[in-house]
Amino acid sequence: MSENFINQKYIEDLLEEAKHADDALIGGALNKAERGETLEHREIAALMVNENPQHLERIFDIAGKIKRRIYGNRIVIFAPLYVSNFCVNRCAYCSFNHGHNFSRRKLTMDEVREEVKILEKMGHKRLALEAGENDAECSIDYILECIKTIYDMKFENGEIRRVNVNIAATTTENYRKLKAAGIGTYILFQETYHEPTYNSVHLAGPKKDFIWHLNAFDRAQDAGIDDVGGGVLFGLADPYFDVMGLLLHNEHLEKKYNVGFHTISVPRLCPAAGMNINDFPHLVDDETFAKIVAVIRIAVPFTGMILSTRETRDMRKKLLHAGISQVSAGSSTTVGGYSRRGSNEKISSQFMVNDDRDAVSIISELMDDGYIPSFCTACYRSGRTGDRFMSLAKSGQVGNVCLPNALMTLCEYSMDYGDITFREKAAVIIEKEIPHIASETIRKKTVENIEKIRNGAGRDFYV
Ligand code: SAM
Repeated sequence: MSENFINQKYIEDLLEEAKHADDALIGGALNKAERGETLEHREIAALMVNENPQHLERIFDIAGKIKRRIYGNRIVIFAPLYVSNFCVNRCAYCSFNHGHNFSRRKLTMDEVREEVKILEKMGHKRLALEAGENDAECSIDYILECIKTIYDMKFENGEIRRVNVNIAATTTENYRKLKAAGIGTYILFQETYHEPTYNSVHLAGPKKDFIWHLNAFDRAQDAGIDDVGGGVLFGLADPYFDVMGLLLHNEHLEKKYNVGFHTISVPRLCPAAGMNINDFPHLVDDETFAKIVAVIRIAVPFTGMILSTRETRDMRKKLLHAGISQVSAGSSTTVGGYSRRGSNEKISSQFMVNDDRDAVSIISELMDDGYIPSFCTACYRSGRTGDRFMSLAKSGQVGNVCLPNALMTLCEYSMDYGDITFREKAAVIIEKEIPHIASETIRKKTVENIEKIRNGAGRDFYV
């Protein structure tokens, strides 16, 4: 049964009340967050609406501490793979809009292999498969074939070990097929939880149906997909409203399925062909955006947070401190874009990226900044999905599982794709982080495996 669990008036009242929140309420909420307690809706709304520099400083400080406590220095790396830009929807913000006139295409399986070869050469192990919505040109069978082609494809030392999927809301039956194909997370952005705005930017096509879209994760969960990733497109509606919407959606899933979002993505509207960004009255400035990221980190400490190359290098640096745990690197938002990089061909991307550095530069800079770039895909491969992943995260055991996996995959990456300087840099990070593996047995095993990787005596180790 589809339902609307987003109560617009409730959120509007919360945000109105939050404008009058006093220092005691905000200070109290921050003390609770510092002690790792769950915040009430009115407290989260108050943190978000507030603009007091002292409170803001504490918000960023606490978000940073929560992130370091739960995720350590690990940052998971992925890349998007656009397979088709055919689309029947008319979304005012998107260049794939059905009404836009450009030469559309979907990849043949040979082209999928070409793209994946390049992504594997960059060292990627985790992809997000992206497509517009068009059952005729880009059916579920086509998507399944793409997934199989990707998993079957191995090039030199490369292999994609986890395919997350970001395709339009679909039926329970199709979600069952995606589950059987071995997808990682099913990702879908609500775009906005503010129904009147949703209706005004989704002009035609199946996506126009707010309730159908809103209940997509229920259908995915019913079909057995227990890792689902939410998000909103910041810039469409009041961002504070949308954060509260995300949290209500998360609670709905927790209540009904015992597990909320595996990840939350925070895409921000970018210029794209066929739209004028100035037509959108709710664009979010950098300061507000950073505050939002920090408040989400405080509100849902155990949910991974994903940032794409829509953001600039500087903004990405800043937001990693505020709570982001996964970033894309070396991305193309064009169908067939990896193979045609550097060519003069005029090809249409979904939107313009703001961090166009290659993957290795992004990964190398993460290490300069003290992070451990992680290519780990172990949880999904060991069946630690849904509430099993959440209990691992909540048990504080990530230091014994995710940390060794991050270090082993970074070592593998550095041997496969790094030059001498890169390998040395990775070795310094690995050395520094090894003592933080709490269990002595796992620590010793990790050291042994890293030696094996360096000597070419083994690879693809995980806990
Ligand atoms: N067709 C699928 C759907 O309807 O959900 C997949 C979505 S699309 C390939 C991925 C996401 O890109 C969209 O959900 C939207 O949030 C985002 N997007 C679209 N236009 C954008 C723009 N101009 N700037 C930033 N992100 C955009």
